Amino acid sequence: MTKKTDSTVFKASWSYDAAPESTDHIQIKSQYDLFIDGEFTAPINGDYFETINPANHQLISKVAEATSKDVDKAVASAAKAYKKWSALSGKERGKYIFRIARLIQERARELSVIESLDGGKPIRESRDIDIPLAANHFFYYAGWADKLSYAFPNRNPKPLGVVGQIIPWNFPLLMAAWKIAPALATGNTVVLKPAETTSLTALKLAEIIKDSGLPKGVVNIVTGAGKTGAAIVEHPDIKKIAFTGSTGVGKYIQKAIAGTDKKLTLELGGKGANIIFEDAAIDQAVEGIINAIFFNQGHVCCAGSRLFVQESVAKSVIEKLKGRMNSLMIGDPLDKNTDIGAINSEKQLKIIENYINIGLNEGGEIYQPDCDMPKKGNWCKPTLFINVSQSHRIVQEEIFGPVLAIQTFRTIDEVIEKANNTPYGLSAGVWTEKGSKIFYLSQKLKAGVIWGNTFNKFDPASPFGGYKESGFGREGGLHGLKPYVKFE
Ligand code: NAP
Ligand code: MG
Repeated sequence: MTKKTDSTVFKASWSYDAAPESTDHIQIKSQYDLFIDGEFTAPINGDYFETINPANHQLISKVAEATSKDVDKAVASAAKAYKKWSALSGKERGKYIFRIARLIQERARELSVIESLDGGKPIRESRDIDIPLAANHFFYYAGWADKLSYAFPNRNPKPLGVVGQIIPWNFPLLMAAWKIAPALATGNTVVLKPAETTSLTALKLAEIIKDSGLPKGVVNIVTGAGKTGAAIVEHPDIKKIAFTGSTGVGKYIQKAIAGTDKKLTLELGGKGANIIFEDAAIDQAVEGIINAIFFNQGHVCCAGSRLFVQESVAKSVIEKLKGRMNSLMIGDPLDKNTDIGAINSEKQLKIIENYINIGLNEGGEIYQPDCDMPKKGNWCKPTLFINVSQSHRIVQEEIFGPVLAIQTFRTIDEVIEKANNTPYGLSAGVWTEKGSKIFYLSQKLKAGVIWGNTFNKFDPASPFGGYKESGFGREGGLHGLKPYVKFE
């Protein structure tokens, strides 16, 4: 270690030996079929697509591409299973869901490594956040299965039938858990489609579901691209669609099911405001800014991608932030030292790079640490922009990458107006030593989740969801049961 302690040269003071997580304990087949009616089943067309490691572009496995005929089979199997599953007591259903939760815990190490291999996220995050939270969601909703009459007193909640669930690539197993656990707890059966670039942990979950002895057909997992998702959306026997993904596809789904009696919840994009007041604990706030925007390479719908710093502390916050960015470790997602892993796909990398160019062309001032990046794979440096204003596209549009847009403010009214000046409304963070200020802002900010002196904290017992173009409906908590029941 050198003697320098100035935070801006932090990186220079440390060096780390690589500490890669081993892969010898995981099993990945060379090819995966669809999980329909409790069995792995070849797709009718016989088509498979490749899933690659975004950190080195190596082929990991091939995954079946489901057509609408395969979706028909999956829906028929779920409809058949529904009769018995919905008639089981809540206590019996809960037993299966608890079993799935425990099996996820038992196989947590394997699931974490596969999540990082297939999606590019740092092993530290998949090991400590994604996989434990996925197990927790199953544990949490298993607990509700026999208590629905307490969740909805005097309302006699009934399941809906077969539900279609479509999830994105940023938290693959966790999003599957968010979707499947409440659906099963309430007595529905499921057809779920993971995202094309990250199907593997959903297929591992299929193995777990098989091992759990869950009755055949209660959960079906069909892999494929947007077309497979559309076949689920348009299927006449599906009673509810739960979708997490982009606002564009969310709008298409809304149009596609208009005029039908399908229920819908949409968890869409975001452009979260992270607000730092001058009375905040600045060092903690800087850590919070890092976590808010660089967690999971910024592939986070609720990321704090718009930073608002009170003018009196802006200079020191930005200095400290740059120093902290210099110390971030970018590289091998399987290395336990890694803070920032690979961008999920080449397509997403191009989108992010395009936004960085837009930021520069619109006159923003960029900062990126001077760090080495691996030669192969999809990589993007952590990036911040200053000298941007409300009208800049990088301030208004969701980038879904490690790119932060920084603005300043003087008064509380000004920051409320600026923070709410977005078509989205998913998340926000407020950093101050005054609890009263946090409560005041949480009433004024139009966002589904508002964190006080923290960011990106998730808990299965806490509802999550958006306003405006960030979607509607809640997942998590007691609220997360509601979209899966009807009242008679
Ligand atoms: P996306 O393109 O909307 O894809 C989401 C899912 O929908 C994927 O499984 C995708 O399949 C599928 N899909 C694509 N076209 C479809 C269609 N026409 N009909 C039915 N399904 C279709 O979004 P993404 O790029 O994967 O994910 C990033 C977006 O998700 C961001 O905007 C982010 O903010 C949002 N997100 C929101 C939340 C939240 O909770 N609010 C959480 C995570 C992500 P393929 O992958 O095979 O194309
Ligand atoms: Mg992949």
